[in-house]
Amino acid sequence: MPVMKFGGSSVADAQKISNATGIIAAAAEKIKKSENAKPPVVVVSAMKGVTDMLINAASSAENGGSSYKEILDGLKEKHHNAIEKLVTKKKEQNILIEEINALLSELSEILHGVELVRECSPRTNDFISGFGERLSSKIIAAHLKDCGIKAVAVDAREIIRTDNNHGRAAVDFKETERLTRAKLSDRDYIAVVTGFIASTADGVATTLGRNGSDYTASILGAALNEKTVEIWTDVDGILTADPRIVPDAKVIDEISFQEAMELSYFGAEVIHPYTLLPAMEKNIPVFIKNTMNPSAPGTRIAKDVKPKNRPITGIASIDNVSMVTIEGGGMVGMPGIAGRIFSSVANAGANIIMISQASSEHSICLVCREEDSRKAASALKKDLNDALSGGIIRNINLDHNLEIVAVIGENMKGHVGLSGKLFSALGNAGVNILAIAQGSTELNISFVIEGSKKKNAISAIHKSFIG
Ligand code: ADP
Ligand code: ASP
Ligand code: MG
Repeated sequence: MPVMKFGGSSVADAQKISNATGIIAAAAEKIKKSENAKPPVVVVSAMKGVTDMLINAASSAENGGSSYKEILDGLKEKHHNAIEKLVTKKKEQNILIEEINALLSELSEILHGVELVRECSPRTNDFISGFGERLSSKIIAAHLKDCGIKAVAVDAREIIRTDNNHGRAAVDFKETERLTRAKLSDRDYIAVVTGFIASTADGVATTLGRNGSDYTASILGAALNEKTVEIWTDVDGILTADPRIVPDAKVIDEISFQEAMELSYFGAEVIHPYTLLPAMEKNIPVFIKNTMNPSAPGTRIAKDVKPKNRPITGIASIDNVSMVTIEGGGMVGMPGIAGRIFSSVANAGANIIMISQASSEHSICLVCREEDSRKAASALKKDLNDALSGGIIRNINLDHNLEIVAVIGENMKGHVGLSGKLFSALGNAGVNILAIAQGSTELNISFVIEGSKKKNAISAIHKSFIG
């Protein structure tokens, strides 16, 4: 039995939702014929754009603006429109509208509270941003029932336990497994579970990070020891590059867990970076499929994949990064300086995406999101003040509007001449490289360029290696 996840793009409006439920109904029908059959667990995202609307509403209320009221009207209209088309029986439609209105008035009261106190803590922000999934799961379950299929909306806050790191909470897998099994092991209905949201042991709402519904699906798949996890989205699978940058990117039919993890870590948003960890642990293959083209085979992410005949599997990139460069001849052969740099950045709470050090030890580059880079640079200037004034470190520079590009593939291991071909493709495209890093596993080569060169760089590499 698969866990099936439908992303925001697959539940964007009534038409898309009815398409998705067609796929769910077909899977349920197929499963019915097998022994020990149990209806599938379905994980759903908020309708496309809704989480952004909720976050914008929270920040408008926090700033004392009133645009959150218009956003609330927009949310009401969007969900009511869907209900009118998806739930045809009048009595059920009225019950659902009442439930949805109750949720929306709860949301309105909270936003009013935020407006009054002019403060929206990460905890409140998590509570607000999770309304989208609570709304969509109810509508999708009601639509399935309208089609004569037994379905119940399940709030993941009842079954996914996390710590209280709001915005990106860490999962307590043991407790989550216990709760999930108790709730979902024995069912005769399709469980339509909210993606993205979870709760602490005290019942406080948390979220798994933006795009986190993919992760919800694999957490549940692993907790229930399911056979497969299916991520239904708006593309035919994982592509060799972001299709918005390389329109002729190709579908990757099979990819290893490690490669897919690297691609998602380096920005391939088709899958949330943590998604593959629980699946990999239990060796559960994950399929990426297109809701609008269900007969396409999609991408299979698994442990055992057949070898590819090209050196690279895919290219990914992260926009809007900044680079902190610490340079100074005095750092050469100076023990402990890297340790001090990393402790200072860690204590400042800045997250480093990529590190590169010149072999001369003349400079160390840390690549972070812009906000983190500012935090890191100011902490370093304070904590390494002695090294700066003593001339060991000459400068701490900050550069913005950069891009990390990562080239990923298991075949890169020991592939002589690959870097040469890569960098000459970039040179021919007129792209200047500011920093380079290669993991010791040789699974990826990542480098930093000016943000404005992103399309040139990715297209040139794609053309040179994938065609
Ligand atoms: P969902 O709403 O289903 O969660 P997302 O928008 O989060 O979907 O992810 C799907 C999108 O990811 C695609 O429409 C595509 O534009 C983008 N994307 C970026 N990189 C890749 C890639 N390498 N392969 C496929 N899609 C990618
Ligand atoms: N709705 C959430 C978001 O937009 C989670 C998801 O869609 O995966 O980030
Ligand atoms: Mg997504």
